[in-house]
Amino acid sequence: MEYRTIIEPFRIHSVQAIDLPDLAQRERALERSGFNLFGLHADEIIIDLLTDSGTGAMSSNQWAGMMRGDESYAGSRSFFRFEAAVKDITGMDEVIPTHQGRAAEKILFSVAVSEGDVVPNNTHFDTTRANVEYQGAEARDLVIAEGTDPSAILPFKGNMDVERLRRTIEEVGPDRVPLVMVTVTNNSGGGQPVSMANLREVRAVCDEFGVPLYLDACRFAENAWFIKLREPGYEDKTPREIAREMFSYADGATMSAKKDGLANIGGFLATNDQEISLNARNLLILTEGFPTYGGLAGYDLEAVAIGLDEVLDENYLNYRIRSTAYLAETISNAGVPIVQPPGGHAVYIDAATLLPHIPPHEYPAQALAIELYRAGGVRGVEIGTVMFGRPDPSGGPDTSAAMELVRLAVPRRTYTQSHIDYVGEVVIDVAGRASSLRGLRIVDQPAWLRHFTARFSRL
Ligand SMILES: *Cc1c(COP(=O)(O)O)cnc(C)c1O
Repeated sequence: MEYRTIIEPFRIHSVQAIDLPDLAQRERALERSGFNLFGLHADEIIIDLLTDSGTGAMSSNQWAGMMRGDESYAGSRSFFRFEAAVKDITGMDEVIPTHQGRAAEKILFSVAVSEGDVVPNNTHFDTTRANVEYQGAEARDLVIAEGTDPSAILPFKGNMDVERLRRTIEEVGPDRVPLVMVTVTNNSGGGQPVSMANLREVRAVCDEFGVPLYLDACRFAENAWFIKLREPGYEDKTPREIAREMFSYADGATMSAKKDGLANIGGFLATNDQEISLNARNLLILTEGFPTYGGLAGYDLEAVAIGLDEVLDENYLNYRIRSTAYLAETISNAGVPIVQPPGGHAVYIDAATLLPHIPPHEYPAQALAIELYRAGGVRGVEIGTVMFGRPDPSGGPDTSAAMELVRLAVPRRTYTQSHIDYVGEVVIDVAGRASSLRGLRIVDQPAWLRHFTARFSRL
């Protein structure tokens, strides 16, 4: 008999208590934080789905590995284990550790990108875009058209639009395109996967013009699992074989080990380009540390090396992708509109559809995120006009974002099915009284990245 229930493929070995603040405490916390969930203290939150970055649980093997950490300044044994783990998956010649993903982006773009360049990506993650723009270059998102339609159901909604990529390179000229990037899975596009066929096509276009291809590989293992499930010809391959093939089409990769490294901190830049690696290492010494630790402790390198192995375990990936889909199905079967199909690491509630009575400049997704916290202590994050809109200099309504979403990101190996059932109950309750929710206005905001610190009041 094959049983139906997919269980968490681990048992709990060490636990951390969750505080259970009551409604009055949560309301006080909202007042204090100016209705900004980034201002909450962790002990004011019951279930924290703010991000899947660095918030996962490490395994007993990773903790044991940390005890082996070699803290030698140069040439640490832990570095060589880390390097071997990265090379085994990526097949790349040069491996440069960094303290997290954006540090890898910063050194890559500093050495490879110049003012006036154009960097195509399926969808730039926010730090990736910021690091491209910081070099005076333009970051262009070229995801397929369905990739920005919340209701379009496609197996590989993160794919690059290959024709637009070709036209972009022809239009700006290959000498102004220092590299093409593909983000797997496409985080800012809803955690949607990219197919192997699409990677192959992007590679062919890059070859046509002699432009290198880099992967933003933060969720490479989740992407590999989607390929196994959804792409003909890959059903019998292991996640490691699939990941190796994905990396084989790339000349380099940036990685945040806080995602599919199953670690709380860490990242790397890997490349086959000797000149880039030489220049990147020189810059690394300036900003991150010596090239055999790159801003990490020896024990962090051990945790990442082991995490990169564990993340490719089939039982883990089956549970991981299934548990995100489980939350999506729970709320979507109850009629809550979400971005379809659910991505690997998060469920995105479509607040524009759920709260049509709140216009974008009154922040419907912020109103929903605030109510999920007030009602049930669940913290998600607004991805809408608070994050991507701009204030109007003459005092009119903000320019609005393309979509009004609340993202519920699922930390790895952290919450059990009953935690997720609880989240489902809270979301369904709040959605059931959506028409009674009211919008917000911003009372105070900084000039940059306002979503982190803006203060709101209720309308
Ligand atoms: C998280 C993330 C990054 C940046 O990594 P950090 O470790 O947060 O600096 C870059 N790209 C994508 C797709 C990400 O999800």
